[in-house]
Amino acid sequence: DPRVDLIRSRIRDVADFPKPGILFRDITPLLSDGVAFRTAIDLLAEQARPLAPEVIVGIESRGFLFGAPLATALGIGFVPVRKPGKLPHATTREEYDLEYGTDAVEMHSDALSHGTRVLVVDDVIATGGTARATCKLVKRLGGEIVGAAFLIELTFLDGGAKLAPIPTIALVRY
Ligand code: 5GP
Repeated sequence: DPRVDLIRSRIRDVADFPKPGILFRDITPLLSDGVAFRTAIDLLAEQARPLAPEVIVGIESRGFLFGAPLATALGIGFVPVRKPGKLPHATTREEYDLEYGTDAVEMHSDALSHGTRVLVVDDVIATGGTARATCKLVKRLGGEIVGAAFLIELTFLDGGAKLAPIPTIALVRY
């Protein structure tokens, strides 16, 4: 698909970021190219529509950049998942393990009504830890996960397996 080739061409590889030995996939060239950005949202919408989501749950912060336009393209709502301490109202938290230490994600406790069909969105799935914690949070708040969508999947880290059996959408896989 030439549209996928366009998106792939707008992802920049940055060596040794944020740490030595890590090859970071930088999506800022895609964001600054209006045609490529819109194409990415179009492709995500095409693949997400059959899952019939009722709300997008986007993960701070690059998940907002794709989740919010995807929500408007699908004509559905957007709910943010944030790092601890950012959301103003009553929140629910899920902690997850990192290589060293732990991290956590939070949502407003009243963000989802029971049985709401949720599509989780982020820019990249690497180990899958962030997305899995988000899925746990969504389920605890009564949401039904219909899928998880990413611009990029780093397949060698096998994050998709952590989400199974949730269907995973990714436009570009490395
Ligand atoms: P995971 O929890 O799957 O290991 O990491 C995914 C999170 O880290 C996502 O929120 C994503 O934004 C960020 N991330 C990890 N690696 C990359 C990368 O190479 N490029 C970008 N843009 N984000 C990354």
